[in-house]
Parts: sequence; C-alpha cells; structure tokens
Amino acid sequence: LAGRDFHPEDTVVPVGDLTVGGRHVQIIAGPCAVESREQLLETAMAVREAGATMLRGGAYKPRSSPYSFQGLAAKGLEFLAEAREVTGLPVVTEIMDPALVTEIAQVADVLQIGSRNMQNFALLQAVGRTQKPVLLKRGLSATIEEWLLAAEYILAEGNDRVILCERGIRTFETYTRNTLDLSAVPAVKHLSHLPVIVDPSHGTGRKFMVAPMARAALAAGADGLMIEVHPNPQEALSDGPQSLIPEQFARLVQEIRPIIAAG
Ligand code: PEP
Ligand code: MN
Repeated sequence: LAGRDFHPEDTVVPVGDLTVGGRHVQIIAGPCAVESREQLLETAMAVREAGATMLRGGAYKPRSSPYSFQGLAAKGLEFLAEAREVTGLPVVTEIMDPALVTEIAQVADVLQIGSRNMQNFALLQAVGRTQKPVLLKRGLSATIEEWLLAAEYILAEGNDRVILCERGIRTFETYTRNTLDLSAVPAVKHLSHLPVIVDPSHGTGRKFMVAPMARAALAAGADGLMIEVHPNPQEALSDGPQSLIPEQFARLVQEIRPIIAAG
C-alpha cells in the first residue's frame, strides 16, 4: 500500500485546513517537550509569528534514561489544546502507548510515532485504526525498507494519512547526534507516494547545523520540516543543544522562502 507502483500519484494528507504533500511545504515548530503553560504559549505564539504552520510539543517523552524528565502527560495535552486555541495552529504530539490513542487523539491533529517506536507494531496498528494523520519518524537504525514497512502497518489498518519523517540515523559519526540521511528524501519519493518531511533538529543535535540542513532538505524535495524551538534553550528540560530561539527560527523561515518558491 505504501508503494509507488500501487499508488502512482503523490498522497496529500489533510491536517485541518492544511495539506501535507503535493508541494505544500509545512513547517512544524515548537519545543521538544511541553514544560509549562507559559513556555508552550510563548513558543507557540513566537513560531506562528515567524511563519510556522503547525505546532509541535511532547507531552509524553520517550527519554533514553528513565530518570530524565518524562513529560507533563495529561497536563501537557491540556496546554497543547490551549495553544491550539490561541494560535490556530494544528498540534503534532507524540504517542507512545496504544492505550492512550483516544485521549491523545482528542487534542492532537497529528499523532507522532517517535523513532524509538517505529517498530512498535501494536502502536502502529492502534493509530492505523484511527483516521488521524500520523507522523511516522524513521527508526534510529531503520533501513528505508523497514521504515516503509512500518508505514504499511498503519495503512493496512485502513488509515491512509501517513506522513514520513527523516530524523537522522545512527552511524559511526559522533560529532553529530545522528547522521541526517537526506538521500532518504528522493529514495522515499521514488519508492512511495507518501509525503516525507525532515527533522534537522534531531538529525544533527546541534543548533548551528539546523538551518543549513533545513535548506538542504527542501532543496532535496522534502514536503516540510520539523524544527525544535525553545525560548531559553539553556534551561530546556530536553534537547536544548539543538533548539533554536524564536529569532533564529524566524531567520530560518526567511532563508527557506526562496527555496520553497523555486519549487
Ligand atoms: C521528538 O520529536 O521530540 C523526538 C523524541 O524525536 P525522535 O523520536 O526522532 O527521537
Ligand atoms: Mn526532541
């Protein structure tokens, strides 16, 4: 179902009044984690002002260590709902537990499946049984084929609203947090009809590399970007080193405009 031979035309995924795919570049921005009402609202208003078209923020965080901040959970969802109300931006947030589909789907406009859960097949099937758009991040050590087969689990349950997200893979390189595989963009476009966006924040782990890789992603044909933004990255409870301040994000949006216009 994910293959180009099955479905030759590009899939366009509706998200509220917006569409992902088919040359409508969407810019998803916001903090890694929802940390407080103030932090989220401040960031949401700033990214909307700068030109973001959707808001991201994790309420349930898949942290590598069980002792790290795990997210505000239900309280975080409440703040996300308020931020959507205030800004009008559709909300993208991660789901880690199939038991929470109904609760999270009440707030989220897009359900994010994180890299660590790309092969959590029960979770893929659970979101596949909804009609919510799903942002499926590439697993940190997944081949492109494994990634498309993960998408297949969602499609096979009857949900055709799948957006792929390249977020870097693990290689021998340690200078960057991950190695952003921009060659995955044309590869996915060749193999599949699904839209693919790029997350240069997790893909590099370093703030100074985010804008250049965002420009490169769009030049390579990506259908959108996911960018982490925090009003005070030094104080961030997760992913501070890769988070842009709102002014840097605004500059990034200006820099990508000509690339989008050039199509
Ligand atoms: C995130 O988007 O905050 C996240 C945890 O990303 P990934 O699953 O790509 O590591
Ligand atoms: Mn993050």
